[in-house]
Amino acid sequence: MRGDYSYSDREYRRRRGSLLLKCLIALLMLIIIALAALLIYEIRFRDYQNPWAQAQAEKEAQEAAERAAAEAARKAREAEAEQGAPGSGVVPLISEDQEVSLESQANRLALQYDYDGAIALLRNQPGYDRNERFKNLVSSYESTKAGCSAYPIDQITHVFFHTLIWDDAKAFDGDEDEPGYNQVMTTVSEFNSILSQMYNRGYVMVSLHDMVSVGDDGSVTQKEIRLPAGKIPFVLSQDDCSYYHYMDGDGFARKLIVTDDGKIKNTYIEDDGSVSVGDYDVVPIIDTFVEQHPDFAYHGHKGILALTGYEGVLGYRTDEVYKTRQEDRLTEYQRDFFAEHPDFDFDQEVSEATAVADAMKAEGWEFASHTWGHINPRQNSIEMVQRDSQRWHDWVMPVVGETDVLIFAFGADIGDWQPYSADNEYFAHYKSMGFNIFCNVDSSVKAWVQVGPNFLRQGRRNLDGYRMYYSPDLISDLYDVSIAWDTNRPTPVPEM
Ligand SMILES: [Zn+2]
Repeated sequence: MRGDYSYSDREYRRRRGSLLLKCLIALLMLIIIALAALLIYEIRFRDYQNPWAQAQAEKEAQEAAERAAAEAARKAREAEAEQGAPGSGVVPLISEDQEVSLESQANRLALQYDYDGAIALLRNQPGYDRNERFKNLVSSYESTKAGCSAYPIDQITHVFFHTLIWDDAKAFDGDEDEPGYNQVMTTVSEFNSILSQMYNRGYVMVSLHDMVSVGDDGSVTQKEIRLPAGKIPFVLSQDDCSYYHYMDGDGFARKLIVTDDGKIKNTYIEDDGSVSVGDYDVVPIIDTFVEQHPDFAYHGHKGILALTGYEGVLGYRTDEVYKTRQEDRLTEYQRDFFAEHPDFDFDQEVSEATAVADAMKAEGWEFASHTWGHINPRQNSIEMVQRDSQRWHDWVMPVVGETDVLIFAFGADIGDWQPYSADNEYFAHYKSMGFNIFCNVDSSVKAWVQVGPNFLRQGRRNLDGYRMYYSPDLISDLYDVSIAWDTNRPTPVPEM
């Protein structure tokens, strides 16, 4: 069978010759087809332009134009800097005074850990490229920034105070209010010592809004707080900064005011009825302290004031009842107040309070709701709580502005330690009123922070007479009570 697959040499040559010829014909035909295709393309698509190639060309042209513009701008800047160069005889773009002022602004931003702000401020000045002084500052900010690290958000502590006692003798005078003051108040001398001690230990005030950001949909996400080694962020709040009627004559400031030079101060009514202006409570004391120690306030952020509404805010009688004077709602204190202030002007009161709140916000202060009526939500029906929230919304918010922070009164809460759930009607209500951040009181641990999908919760530590007297060890991470303790404070501090 092998013979079927073998043929003679002649047969082989003949077959090879015919194969070559077939190949040649096929090649010729391919060439003709290609030429025809080219001709057809020339005729039909000569005017056709590839859209992608067109867009690409436009993009390249635009980029070239941008490069040229940037180059021109750079040259213009250089020319400007040249003009302002010493000895050039031309007025510099920024004066020596401006330069000094910019430098101190930038230094303050950097001292308050806002390195990006400091760098941007100097970089955006005309002639920056030729300003060695600014360039050196920027590189020093950059290296300090590089040495910072993120502090764990869930380890941030939160301390709070009530209205400070300015005159110990009046607060601790043996009347029926003394035990309460002794338990939950801190004196100005104690507060000053606490501030210095915490500052010396590296504590830095941050805002609750430095800890988390809130999306338009009410979702809550952790942020980053970056600080140099040795710095410890903490939140500071003050409750009930209303200068309630019952405190009159007991050694507390009367109200907060804005002075002619724009500073926030307290007034204090002296025994002879004259009015003194000064640092008699938390806000102006902190403001003065931060003026001297800018690095105590992260990005300039200070504390947050938890406000009720039933006797107004910040010492101003701005609640509804002071407007309507509705008989069945007036308390004895309020009747006395109207008797003592026959020319009380509600609208004037509201506008002064609003000016103070605005000035405070500009100084880095924030406001929280402490509920309108100083209520414990879960001890009230949801309808009562809704009415309370509406009053805060109607009579406090117009003065202090919107807030998404609720600092519960009585250290209460609307849930246990477990995350709030959607079926908690109090939580659902407060979320619907715009609250995302909730603070209770928990002095048993240094920090208690819970970040949920749509809330931040933080426990707060009371630094008052009760805490200092009964459990100084619980706050020894913050300051030494034996140094801060005001010896005018009667002992023992009454038990709760
Ligand atoms: Zn309170």
